[in-house]
Amino acid sequence: MKTVCGFWLIGICGLFISCKNGVKKNNPYFSLTDTTALRLPNSTWEEILTDGVYTVTREASTEMPYTNEYWDFKGTGQYHCAACGNLLFSSAHKYDSGTGWPSFRQPAEPDRLLFRKDFSAREERIEVRCRRCGGHLGHLFYDGPSPTRQRYCMNSLALKFVGIKESKNH
Ligand SMILES: [Zn+2]
Repeated sequence: MKTVCGFWLIGICGLFISCKNGVKKNNPYFSLTDTTALRLPNSTWEEILTDGVYTVTREASTEMPYTNEYWDFKGTGQYHCAACGNLLFSSAHKYDSGTGWPSFRQPAEPDRLLFRKDFSAREERIEVRCRRCGGHLGHLFYDGPSPTRQRYCMNSLALKFVGIKESKNH
């Protein structure tokens, strides 16, 4: 009986160790208010971001449409960078683009984003990055609503929504 209990203990300890290995450290660079530029190596981001956020923000991958967290989300509040907390978009500028990705007519504030030409697809696109941490967010297209025609096509994994009530506590 004692031996059986011993095996149980080893099994339970093993379970906790494997879970612990899957959990990322707290992200010390995440702040909803600090706008100081971050220039960190990918090895640092890999330690503190979940696999999904890392592959989108640091490796510029694109998540699947219609199954991501915010494509059809209608909460009132602000969207921050999932990696560093930088303010990016407001729900006031979110609209249904019919693409299956969260889409915005404009950024929440000027100078929160970086833009660069992206030649990775057949067509030339404008890549949108977070100005604070340099993380990939998505792309900017010019087939959006008038008058700007801008469509900021974002990855939900690159965004962290903070509701109006929630943001008052920070
Ligand atoms: Zn960022």
